[in-house]
Amino acid sequence: MDRISRIFSGGRVPHSFLITGEEGAEKEAFALRLARALICEGEHPPCGVCAACRKAEHPDLIHALQPAVMDAAKNKIGVVRDMIADTHILPNDGHRKVYVVQDASRLTVDQQNVLLATIEEPPKHVCFIFTVNHASDLLPTVVSRCTQIKLSGHGVDLACIDQARSILLPLSKRDELGVLSACMALEKCDRAELRDILESCRTLLRDGALRTLPPLISGEPAPVFTYAEFVSCCDAIDRAADGIIRNLGVAIILGGLCARLTCAISAEEEQ
Ligand SMILES: [Zn+2]
Repeated sequence: MDRISRIFSGGRVPHSFLITGEEGAEKEAFALRLARALICEGEHPPCGVCAACRKAEHPDLIHALQPAVMDAAKNKIGVVRDMIADTHILPNDGHRKVYVVQDASRLTVDQQNVLLATIEEPPKHVCFIFTVNHASDLLPTVVSRCTQIKLSGHGVDLACIDQARSILLPLSKRDELGVLSACMALEKCDRAELRDILESCRTLLRDGALRTLPPLISGEPAPVFTYAEFVSCCDAIDRAADGIIRNLGVAIILGGLCARLTCAISAEEEQ
């Protein structure tokens, strides 16, 4: 179970999150995925297939207090108060509004103090996600009101993501031989490593899926995967993960994964 699934498996979902981690820990990507999960309407958020997940830009996912806006504002406290006023307006589409504040260490002490009461008890439909390198970059009073998620910037997690990318990149280019060689390169992994790599594959695929569906505005980049391809690729990964649970050999699992992934992308071409 990945970190986001764990957040949703515990029943009550926290309303303010603080994502911490060194540069390179992919805090921004994680914050965005968490935000997507919070507005997802599916059973396993972010499901990648519900109406909310299929929107390239969701009106209830708000990139708040961005540097350009903060720098341009004459009244620096006013910008924060405007955001707080906005939280009292009901969501446009779904059940939640999520405010993502990247690199919250930019906020002054006064700005953080203005936020305190709202972070502690926001309107029921509101969640905040802040990212900083270190929790000590914010007032302790802010930190104590948030659920902190520490991301490690190095080690196994990133290695897994790299290996997952090595499969998904050729997959996105319809390069069957590339997929085959990426799968073969994983044959020396043990089951635990392969499980983590598959989990990263699923996460990256789901993140990519948010950009895969027909663009809302014509002129946006073409989708990476079609909907049918996305579903087939997810199925291929799920079956491989199932193979680990059933104690199949790594080579057999990878063989099946490779066959299903290449089938998923070539089936689409024939249509
Ligand atoms: Zn969804």
